[in-house]
Parts: sequence; structure tokens; C-alpha cells
Amino acid sequence: MDIADALITPYWWEDVNAVVSRPQLPGDIDADVVVIGAGFTGLWCAYYLKNLDPNLSIAVVEQRHVGFGASGRNGGWCHAEYPLGHGQLIKDHGHDAALRHMRSLFVSVDDVGRIAADEGIDCDYAKGGVLTVARNKLQASYARDEVAEAESFGLGPHDIRLLEAEEAREMLNATDVVGGVWHAHGAAIHPGKLVHGLAHVVEQLGVTIYEDTEVVELSEGAVRTARGAVNAPMVVVATEGYTSQLPRNARRIVPLYSLMIATEPLPEEVWRDIGLTERQTFSDYRNLIIYGLRTADGRLAFGGRGAPYHWGSSIEDGFDINDRVHSELVRVLLELFPQLSGYDITHRWGGPLGVPRDWRPSVTVDHTKGIAWAGGYVGDGVNTAHLAGQTLAELINGLDTERTTLPWINHTWPRWEPEPFRWIGINAGLALAKSADRTEERTGKHSRKADFGLWLRGRSRRRI
Ligand SMILES: Cc1cc2nc3c(=O)[nH]c(=O)nc-3n(C[C@H](O)[C@H](O)[C@H](O)COP(=O)(O)OP(=O)(O)OC[C@H]3O[C@@H](n4cnc5c(N)ncnc54)[C@H](O)[C@@H]3O)c2cc1C
Repeated sequence: MDIADALITPYWWEDVNAVVSRPQLPGDIDADVVVIGAGFTGLWCAYYLKNLDPNLSIAVVEQRHVGFGASGRNGGWCHAEYPLGHGQLIKDHGHDAALRHMRSLFVSVDDVGRIAADEGIDCDYAKGGVLTVARNKLQASYARDEVAEAESFGLGPHDIRLLEAEEAREMLNATDVVGGVWHAHGAAIHPGKLVHGLAHVVEQLGVTIYEDTEVVELSEGAVRTARGAVNAPMVVVATEGYTSQLPRNARRIVPLYSLMIATEPLPEEVWRDIGLTERQTFSDYRNLIIYGLRTADGRLAFGGRGAPYHWGSSIEDGFDINDRVHSELVRVLLELFPQLSGYDITHRWGGPLGVPRDWRPSVTVDHTKGIAWAGGYVGDGVNTAHLAGQTLAELINGLDTERTTLPWINHTWPRWEPEPFRWIGINAGLALAKSADRTEERTGKHSRKADFGLWLRGRSRRRI
């Protein structure tokens, strides 16, 4: 297993037209709504706006091409987790509001599958749930804590279930599995097919998408690009990790890179050994997050954090590739599945996700200024962006639904620290999480080093 020959492009871009293929903005135009960013947030928002009011004229402006951002590069987990964890949601907003929010996220996972099927988007959706395996006694205690906490706020075995060693190993035959947790509300998807399929659907509904059109300035009632301006009484900002590149937004949201690899299609006998028969997505309880799934064509797509944060929240195409982190992903993959040693890594890639200072996503509409935005999903944006896009559309239309009073509405983010504190703090947090994993593996005890992340993670206990 070597990364040297792997293609440097997201595997998800293979089967879709992941190049600029739509017109640029042709000059100044007027619209009822302009959406910045053709990822899940922007496209779901456009989809629901058109369904609510087919007469609206909607322009989507995208700096590169549909699915260029995290929506076309992610791990393919369409799941109902929330960046801070459900426990923190309850601490923040009380039991009833938090449970309502969780249930909305659960429903959203099903909605993504249902709408994809109804609209003819073949995105390899498979609702096999999310599996978090425990690979030592300490991780097994984290698994028990997670289920006990979920039960304490009213979730049941249809939502989340503790697994004994045998059942966990049956689902995922990775090394050292001693137990785990199965979360029902999660599906594996092909994100490239979903984002491109959705773009096609909104175009059929009458939305115009302009590619290769970067917004360089936004103000009340207009966005300006190098190719002209879109004048619209409502501007929707759906730029997630890239928001930091917009003027006056450098400290609003941090772009944190997550990196991935994909294997060649694996033979059926390897899958019989590994499991994931329902295409469950999987992870374990280490501090520095890893995530994987079985693709519909039998590859193992695998990712993790650990790529450095770049000074000044900068974003460059070159940051998608990091030999050290990609090699480490291969090492961890082989540690989990030694049976993969003879197989090739065919693709490696990465991209920035968006992290707000307090790790709390937000859906905000300001009717007075005519500006709306949603984001801050950290690594949980595939499903969350669907719920956010739907909610944005309802709020823009002035509707009162079960979603328009969820606790994340109009949440405002504290700003990130200025440099050099931001750079030092985030990179120290990443290094300590990695070091904590080594210590926990060696000693079998919780490492205090992991707790530094509390500062970084808005005081929540989620992994990084
Ligand atoms: C490697 C990786 C793995 C991940 N894995 C998962 C996962 O398995 N499950 C999960 O739930 N989440 C995951 N995430 C996070 C998830 O993908 C994102 O939260 C989600 O896709 C965000 O969608 P979005 O539409 O808000 O943003 P994006 O998809 O990032 O879209 C923003 C778009 O805005 C465009 N844009 C930015 N600035 C401008 C501008 N000035 N002018 C015009 N256009 C602009 C960008 O080009 C981009 O296309 C992962 C992210 C990464 C990077």
C-alpha cells in the first residue's frame, strides 16, 4: 500500500463532471435571491426556495465548480451527529429544545435519501447506521458512557445501541475490537453524485448556477464578482470553510483540513472478512478522529484529521495533499485491517471544513439587511447542511415550521483569536490530541492531554 502512485484528486470526482462546465456570470444581473457557494448548503437552500415559491428568480454563484468545496470531498457520512455532541446541546438549550433538534437531524437523514430517490439522484444512499468501535478497555468505557448519556435524555435502542465484542466484530472485523456503539441515524452516500445530482435538479427547477465566478465583496442587496454584480434583496452566504477568505470574515470561521484516501475496489472475499455488509460508516474512540466507509463499488474510503491549520486561516489547493498525514492514514488503515496490505491506494485528497470558535453551527436570516447564512458544521455537515438549507428557505419565506425555532437559529459566533494565538492554539490542540491517543493506547487510561481540546472545542467533550 503506497501513496506514491495514487491520483491526487477526490475519488468522488471520478464519476461526475467535476470541472467548470457552466457559464460564468455574464455581467450585472438582478435576482430575487443570490446564493454564494454551490455546495450542499447553497443547493439545498435553492431547492427548498424553489419548491416553496417556483416564481422566485435564484442565482447561485460559485468560485470554481459545483461540489468544489467540502460537499464534493467529504467522507460520505450522512449522519445525525452534531459537532458538540447531543449532551452539550442539552446543556446549552435544555432537554426539550435539544431533543427537538436531534429529532430534526434524524428526520433529515431520511429526507436526504427520500428526496434523492424521488428526484432520481443516484447517490449510493445506504442507511446502515454509524458504527463506533471500541478497541481497548478505555474506549469500551467511552462507549458505555455514550450510550448511558443518550439513554438519560430519552433515546432508545432504535436510536443508539451498545454492542458486545462479538456483534461489533461481526459488523466490522478490525483488529482489537472489544465492543462498540451502533447509531441508527446514519447513511453512507456518494457525496459527488449527491451534490452534482442536486445541482442538476435545481437547474431543472429554474435556478441558474454560474461557475468560475468568485464573489469578492458582499453588501446589503448585492454581491460583487470580477465578472459583474448580482443585485438581490436577499443574499445567502453558503461558503463554510471558505468564509474566512471573504473580506472582513477572517476570524469568523476557521478552515480546518481533513484528509482522505481510497483503496482500489476490494474483492468480495475481503469484504466477507471485513464486514460492513449494510455499508455502515465507521470510526473508533481515539481523540484525533478517523472515519471510513465502504463505497458502492467496493472500495474503502478512509479519512482523518491531523493536517495542520495554516497561518492566517489561509486556503490553497496545495494544502489538500500532505504526505505525512496521508502516510499516517495508510498506517492506521493497515493497523485496523492488515488484510489490505496487498491492495493499492488509488486516490488521496483533502479539503477544508468550517469550524466556528464555539463549535456551534448557526442558521441565520436577517430580513432587515437582506442577508442569510448557515454553516459552522465542523465535520458533520453532510446531513446538517440539508437541514440548514431547508430551514434557511423557510425563514427567508417568513414561515413558521418545526424547524424555524430550533436552537441554532440566529446563533452568533464569537470570533477566533488573532494570530499568532490562533495558529499556536489550534496546532497545539491537534498535536496534543495525537499525543493523548498514544498515551491512552500505552497506559489504557484517559490522558489529560486530550482535555486541552476543551479550550479549542468550545468547552465540549467531542473528539477533534
Ligand atoms: C475531507 C472532508 C471530509 C468530511 N467528511 C464528512 C462526513 O463524512 N460527514 C459529514 O457530515 N461532514 C463531513 N465533512 C464536512 C462536510 O463536507 C461539510 O460540512 C459540508 O459539505 C459543508 O457544505 P457547504 O455547502 O456549507 O460548504 P462547501 O461544500 O464547502 O461549499 C462552499 C462552496 O462555496 C464556494 N465559495 C467559497 N467562497 C466563495 C466565493 N467567494 N465566491 C463564490 N463561491 C465561493 C466554494 O468553492 C464551495 O464550493 C467533511 C469535510 C471534509 C473536507
